[in-house]
Amino acid sequence: MDELHFCPKCGEETLNWDGEKKLSCNQCSFVLYHNCAAAVAVVIRCGNEIMLTKRNQQPGKGKLDLAGGFTDPKESAEEACARELKEELDIEIIPENLKILLTLPNIYRYKDIDYNTLDIFFEYQVDKKFDAKLDISEVSEITWIYENEIDLNEIAFNSQKKFFQKYLNRNQ
Ligand SMILES: [Zn+2]
Repeated sequence: MDELHFCPKCGEETLNWDGEKKLSCNQCSFVLYHNCAAAVAVVIRCGNEIMLTKRNQQPGKGKLDLAGGFTDPKESAEEACARELKEELDIEIIPENLKILLTLPNIYRYKDIDYNTLDIFFEYQVDKKFDAKLDISEVSEITWIYENEIDLNEIAFNSQKKFFQKYLNRNQ
């Protein structure tokens, strides 16, 4: 955002970034908020096993990830979970059975722009383990891991490490 200098409305080199969320112009009335975006992540559980995906793209290629992604405009977080699981893994879930666990702030960097997100973590119980048809561009495989065998160093993103620290210690 620091690299943006020209106002998209009046064209003058008077654009100001407040370092957090607001772009504004000193010459005209232009204001644009780069607000926090909501994102969802789903822990799919079968008994004591948790399904994780292996990332097939950077950042964190080869490391473990939870299925999920940004919410779309006019979509509930539960609808975003159902859509992302369908897109990434081709599985159908019942959104009403999602249980919200906790939320954490995070920063997602994409093409040199930082996106502040609020990550919303859900749990979804299944009766039996499944194999998923994968969107190979995003996910190379899925893996089921006993929750007491999850190695936090294998988790792709710091925000999810933080989540798993809280989640795996929830009953202690
Ligand atoms: Zn302007």
